[in-house]
Amino acid sequence: MLIVMKKGSTHADHDRVVRVIEELGFRAHSIPGAERTAIGITGNSGPLDPTIFEILPGVAQAVPVTRPFKLVSKEVKPDPTLVRVGSLEIGGGAFQIAAGPCAVEREETYLACAHVVKQAGATMLRGGAFKPRTSPYSFQGLGKEGLRILARARQETGLPVVTEAVDEASLDLVEEYADVIQIGARNMQNYSLLRRAGRARKPVFLKRGMSANLEDFLMSAEYVLSEGNYQLILCERGIRTFSNHSRFTLDLSVIPSVRALSHLPIFVDPSHGTGMRDRVPSMARAGLAAGADGLMIEVHPEPARALSDGPQAMLPDAFADLVRELRLLAPLVERRMEPVA
Ligand code: PEP
Ligand code: MN
Repeated sequence: MLIVMKKGSTHADHDRVVRVIEELGFRAHSIPGAERTAIGITGNSGPLDPTIFEILPGVAQAVPVTRPFKLVSKEVKPDPTLVRVGSLEIGGGAFQIAAGPCAVEREETYLACAHVVKQAGATMLRGGAFKPRTSPYSFQGLGKEGLRILARARQETGLPVVTEAVDEASLDLVEEYADVIQIGARNMQNYSLLRRAGRARKPVFLKRGMSANLEDFLMSAEYVLSEGNYQLILCERGIRTFSNHSRFTLDLSVIPSVRALSHLPIFVDPSHGTGMRDRVPSMARAGLAAGADGLMIEVHPEPARALSDGPQAMLPDAFADLVRELRLLAPLVERRMEPVA
């Protein structure tokens, strides 16, 4: 249920509604907006009687939320969510590019790559310190050492870092070292991990599971928001279909579908979506044109020697060319890209 407050309602009115919700054993989520302030209720297993709230001072209306996802839905929050990462704004027209290798491999090469992608126009750094690999014998990431390297790269470049947590122990560390906590496709339905991310004090970057439909995807985001973390970025990274000409099928039509249902920003990852570096530029341009708020792109100075996802990693020069093209395209689709500092 959503409690919509009257225009002139006071803080005391708001706090009284929150108290009543909590006394009933439910959770209250304050949703300030340009047009109205509202309070979402979660934790109730059945419908609530609207009159309990409508008799309270300052309340305009108590409306049932019909969708299975509540806090992520536009019914509850019509204004787009802005996610703030340091001085960066995600959503609301700014277009961001997170770039870097799949995994953090060695300090020297990571730092060099971080400087190169920054120069090319990346606004965030990526790189996994904890890698969820198909084979237990593949490189699993440098762990805490990888996080230290990422922190060093942030210090040197001034760019925020996004990196994956694969379980609750690694999430504790990622929360400490990184700016944005990535939950990977393989963990999109790891509900205890999602709840832990919902209790984190850093924004969450949630990748779509490879067999998740839109409702599954938004319900996973709901887990994070339901715990009180409203700073969440969705990311389309390709799904499994019968098509085998690329690694996954990048489902760009999910972008307008997310827009129709949710206020959350959404990125596109054309690297995992295609699995082939020469397919990345066209899908990156398409992602921007389809209305994404940003891209996540894998870049490696020596892809042939990469310890993971080499075939999809762009070379730094090709990445720089791509960013130049995106800069030309962005104003046509109402996206802003800041000039390289
Ligand atoms: C990654 O970003 O390196 C990654 C493992 O992505 P995904 O979870 O989308 O496979
Ligand atoms: Mn990868």
